[in-house]
Amino acid sequence: MSARQRPVRRIVIVGGGSAGWMAAAALGRALAGQSHTLTLVESEAIGTVGVGEATVPPIHEFNRYLGLDQAEFLRATHGTIKLGIQFDGWGGVGHRYFHPFGFFGVEMSGIHFHHYWLRHLAAGGDADGGPYNLETMAARAGRFAPMTRHGPVHHAVHFDAAAYAQYLRGYAEAKGVVRVEGRVADVRLDPEDGFITSIAMADGRVIEGDLFVDCSGFRGLLIEGALATGYAEWSHWLPCDSAVAMPCENDGDPAPYTCSTAREAGWQWRIPLQHRDGNGYVYSSAHLDHDEAERLLRSRLPGAALADANRLRFNAGHRKAIWNRNCVAVGLAGGFLEPLESTSIHLIQTTIIRLLALLPRDAIDPHVVARFNRDALHEYETIRDFVIAHYALSNRDDTSFWRDIAAAGLPDSLAERIEAFRATGNILFEPGDLFGPTNWYAVLTGQGVRPQSWHPIADGLANEELAARLATLRSRVSEQLAELPTHGEFLRRLGR
Ligand SMILES: Cc1cc2nc3c(=O)[nH]c(=O)nc-3n(C[C@H](O)[C@H](O)[C@H](O)COP(=O)(O)OP(=O)(O)OC[C@H]3O[C@@H](n4cnc5c(N)ncnc54)[C@H](O)[C@@H]3O)c2cc1C
Repeated sequence: MSARQRPVRRIVIVGGGSAGWMAAAALGRALAGQSHTLTLVESEAIGTVGVGEATVPPIHEFNRYLGLDQAEFLRATHGTIKLGIQFDGWGGVGHRYFHPFGFFGVEMSGIHFHHYWLRHLAAGGDADGGPYNLETMAARAGRFAPMTRHGPVHHAVHFDAAAYAQYLRGYAEAKGVVRVEGRVADVRLDPEDGFITSIAMADGRVIEGDLFVDCSGFRGLLIEGALATGYAEWSHWLPCDSAVAMPCENDGDPAPYTCSTAREAGWQWRIPLQHRDGNGYVYSSAHLDHDEAERLLRSRLPGAALADANRLRFNAGHRKAIWNRNCVAVGLAGGFLEPLESTSIHLIQTTIIRLLALLPRDAIDPHVVARFNRDALHEYETIRDFVIAHYALSNRDDTSFWRDIAAAGLPDSLAERIEAFRATGNILFEPGDLFGPTNWYAVLTGQGVRPQSWHPIADGLANEELAARLATLRSRVSEQLAELPTHGEFLRRLGR
């Protein structure tokens, strides 16, 4: 029987970073009690990428699927709460805006709140939309609890990704995943159909499998090294190809949000954890020398450095197929989008969930693979557009980096979205998109796009009625805010 025709019983995961252990945990949970074998191979000598600390709210769905306890998870990963991202200098030097999670106002008569808000602005109303989004106000006040009497406080987490991988390792091993330590030296293919039959370790051990999950990081040992799948690059729109990361001491209670500051050749992140701040400078090596990037990051650290600089190189883009033959690439092996909106761990999660939904029992069906790839690549593209929007609408021309960005143009899909918003106030999105109307509204207006119109239904409310509803929304948010403890208190109650 050729490899193509074999039922899927032996699953081999190559790589033990966040991607590998997230895949192992989810597969272990999904296939518990069945006759499958699950093996994870990793090499301590090679190590992991060692960064990746901010997430988006659906991380809670993944943790819930595994049945993790939120308090224990936060303690184990030194986690803090993320209510959104503060963007400094992105809409021009000295400019600031906040991209929150949660909802901006409430839908009224079936249309999004921002249409009413645009009408209110056109009539000369107060321009601060913050009081209509609980998460923005909680971030400003440094407050958090997961729930108020009126509903949830939408949030993601910041965590130590290495600690998360370790935590999931314990979980996956308890579900029967077998860990193999060592370096994969060779990947063997079936001469008939090119499917992977086994991996050979440097010490001579051979591990056979029916399905291989490539979590080997940027190198894509199986998906690219063995299967030569090809890579679609987006460096034209996203020229940042390097980063330098360095943790530092933190001072006082951590802020419940990520900071992203636009710099001369890219941007700098600050991610507060319980025991330290994560910092990094993501930059274009065509515009900034590596040593100079490190020097600049050091000079701008908010506290004393706690470790040596970690230098990284990458290419924005994705494999031309995320699932090729009997290999599915998860994590950096599948593609990379810079962490401006903290989406890599989310892409790991959705790739795993998509794999679980379509997991083959018998032979691998090409229609299933085609559907998987179509959905996966669509997701990459919509997130890519959201990330590019921050750069393309930056209004900056103070360095050659920003001037080159301005000259790079836009993908058609993003240009359509921006033009539709500018002309009508409508945000074009599809159900299931990670970023919905609140997210797009925050970033497009934060970056200076001013719609010329709004939805006609928003004209249906009399001026006094609109003013009364805005007042009700504001007071609802301030009541909720008053219920929240400080972020520091919340963490201390968890046993920080
Ligand atoms: C600068 C930067 C900042 C980031 N920030 C964020 C963020 O804020 N939020 C976010 O969601 N994501 C972020 N990411 C992405 C995030 O770090 C990764 O998505 C995540 O850590 C998953 O990495 P991985 O497991 O795919 O790869 P890796 O961590 O590189 O793991 C690869 C694994 O494969 C193993 N391996 C490789 N070759 C072999 C071999 N020959 N034999 C045996 N084992 C092998 C390695 O030992 C390792 O265990 C960031 C990435 C970068 C570069």
